[in-house]
Amino acid sequence: MSLTEGSAIDMLRLEAQVHSAVSSVDDPEYPGISIVDLGLLETIHVEPDGSTVIGLIPTFSGCPALAIIADDVVAAVQEVADVSTCTVDWLSSPAWHADRISHEARSCLERKFTVAVQIGQRSTTCPLCASKTVEQSMFGPSRCRSVHTCTGCGETVEVLRG
Ligand SMILES: [Zn+2]
Repeated sequence: MSLTEGSAIDMLRLEAQVHSAVSSVDDPEYPGISIVDLGLLETIHVEPDGSTVIGLIPTFSGCPALAIIADDVVAAVQEVADVSTCTVDWLSSPAWHADRISHEARSCLERKFTVAVQIGQRSTTCPLCASKTVEQSMFGPSRCRSVHTCTGCGETVEVLRG
């Protein structure tokens, strides 16, 4: 395949197929929620020879999860016909922010995983009963993530900060 005028549309189609392959990858910590809905996907570069570079933004996930995500993305993208190679590039900017999470993913996080997404300095409320939550420990699983307890129903609430 070469990037002649006639194949420009093919390139767009290939990029769309690569995008949907990346969308099929779920976050290993939140099965059922796509990494695209969590705001990890930033760039897709497809060369005329089929080599593909996926630019992802590291998020609240810890390093083991990021390695799994990269492997899953490479495996999914290499399934696309016309892709020769796939590389994942972890971008240092822009910084991931909680407002990159889609509304659908946010409500799924709340319902399925009791995860509250906190943006800015707003206080966190329990996804189950909307009571206030208090932070349990300053040492959450990662920098952007902490563990709270609901003052209403007593549920443990994971908080993602943006
Ligand atoms: Zn509650």
